[in-house]
Amino acid sequence: MAERILVIEDEALVRDLVVLNLKHAGYEVVSEGTFATGAAALARADVSLAIVDVMLPGGEGFSLVRDARDAGLRCPILMLTARSEVQAKVRGLDCGADDYLTKPFDVTELLARVRSLLRRAAGTVAAPGPSFQVGDFTVRFDTGRATTNEGEVTLSDKELKLMELFSRNVDRVLSRADILEEVWGMDAFPTDRTIDKFILRLRRLFEPNAESPTHFITVRGRGYLFRP
Ligand code: CA
Repeated sequence: MAERILVIEDEALVRDLVVLNLKHAGYEVVSEGTFATGAAALARADVSLAIVDVMLPGGEGFSLVRDARDAGLRCPILMLTARSEVQAKVRGLDCGADDYLTKPFDVTELLARVRSLLRRAAGTVAAPGPSFQVGDFTVRFDTGRATTNEGEVTLSDKELKLMELFSRNVDRVLSRADILEEVWGMDAFPTDRTIDKFILRLRRLFEPNAESPTHFITVRGRGYLFRP
């Protein structure tokens, strides 16, 4: 069954854009345009995820989310706001939201956040085991040490996170947006080239021949696929 998403946003243009794109991505979507109707819809607690605008007729999204959390609502909540200040972000996360997106936002980014929040909520992101095998080499997630073409090395925090992500997604194509979202987090977005540089580095460390990779495989136009 399709996951159900609640969108609480008063600006019709933004709401329609979000609703349309979520439906297109295969989600079931319900929407509300005010604080009061939004609060009532959240109280029904029958959605997998809620997207909540901050400035709503009748009150602030922050209080809406706070009240819903106090009432025991557990589903992931993504806040939308026109304010770009760090302050607004802090308030958003303080009130119990899980993630935060500043308007104007890119729809692709919104969808990536939604996927990521739903994945986390579904508990499909299993913790990696203490170690992981890549060909003849071993990565230890507990110590951050790995045996590689360059001998035993300590992986950087990002390299380790990237390896964890790959280890949880064997034989699945990960888009650059997925990788950015999972490894770099929600507000420090580097460029696609940064990711490519990290992949090159992992290939040098773990591929028998970095020129023709068999573990970290480029899937043209889509991203990367990992085969241990
Ligand atoms: Ca608004």
